[in-house]
Amino acid sequence: MTKIYNFCAGPAMLPEAVMQQAQSEFCNWQGSGVSVMEVSHRSPEYVAMAKQAELDLRELMAIPDNYKVLFCHGGGRGQFAAVPFNLLGDKLDADYILTGQWSKSAVVEAKKHARIHETNIMRTTEDGKIGVKSSDDWNVNAGSAYVHYCPNETIEGIEIFDVPETGVVPLVADMSSTILSRPIDVSKFGVIYAGAQKNIGPSGLSIVIVRDDLIGHARQTIPSIFDYQVQTDFDSMYNTPPTYSWYLAGLVFKWLLAQGGIAAVEKNNIAKAELLYNAIDSSSFYSNNVDASVRSRMNIPFTLADDSLNETFLSESKAAGLVTLKGHKLVGGMRASIYNAMPIEGVQALVDFMAVFEKKYA
Ligand code: PMP
Repeated sequence: MTKIYNFCAGPAMLPEAVMQQAQSEFCNWQGSGVSVMEVSHRSPEYVAMAKQAELDLRELMAIPDNYKVLFCHGGGRGQFAAVPFNLLGDKLDADYILTGQWSKSAVVEAKKHARIHETNIMRTTEDGKIGVKSSDDWNVNAGSAYVHYCPNETIEGIEIFDVPETGVVPLVADMSSTILSRPIDVSKFGVIYAGAQKNIGPSGLSIVIVRDDLIGHARQTIPSIFDYQVQTDFDSMYNTPPTYSWYLAGLVFKWLLAQGGIAAVEKNNIAKAELLYNAIDSSSFYSNNVDASVRSRMNIPFTLADDSLNETFLSESKAAGLVTLKGHKLVGGMRASIYNAMPIEGVQALVDFMAVFEKKYA
């Protein structure tokens, strides 16, 4: 059978070794005779596993002790809603930095609660590419309760590598599609959150990393399950957590540690992204319109010189075992999402296919 490489932006492929382990213990977890999906989240075995997952994540990301790690429901969009409830306190204002569709979607939710100051930092470079203004031009309002941004825009394939300086105003980052792909200095952030279904595990889980002093100021009207304080008090088990997703995330964290941690994973991600961007840049048939300084390592959109070949590209790539390459409808063309679990062999297979396709149709 042809080896399948899945380039979906999320839910994304998971490491093969993790899937195999999950499969081997699917019906008999830790010799219990039942699945991890079937045990109580309050059982000592489950609680121990859940705690270990948190410790492994702390080790991977070098999360300082003055940050809590919460395992929540609700995905990325759930956190779009949770952030203003938790962080506005008695303030009215929040800053949102716009770089693409996901940062804009976060604004839609926040506007229900706050006066939002939007700063669009996208720009067109001299050679007509999509660029991003330096974070020195962000003009953060000193009176804002927080500044929100999205370091990796999954749809447009834009990634911001510098962490902006926002002074005393807490920095909040939607890291759904970049978390665990490269080292970050957690201490520069007030809140980091991420939906799981890209670099963490299956959907249904979101991870929130929040600095202690930002917990406990939620508005009265906040639904309890979104309240960082409640989730902290109950060790993320105020209600039944997404137990299987948490378990699988734990396996992914162990797998990442076995790879050598995030520094080693980043090296691999750089090599994968370079391989694909070089293939695109060295061809006049394929193009990517993002400036090199802000090109995403995780989501690589590209177009063909002739749009009418898109369907042919998709069907022939699928037949070659390269699936889910269709670009987001807002951008068109193709998109290859190459998260941590995508091996370099998968990217090489795509690059080889692209060369053959170009020869055939250009
Ligand atoms: N933020 C980013 C950067 C995303 O890529 C996504 C989903 N692709 C979301 C938020 C929304 O996540 P969810 O579907 O888990 O709500």
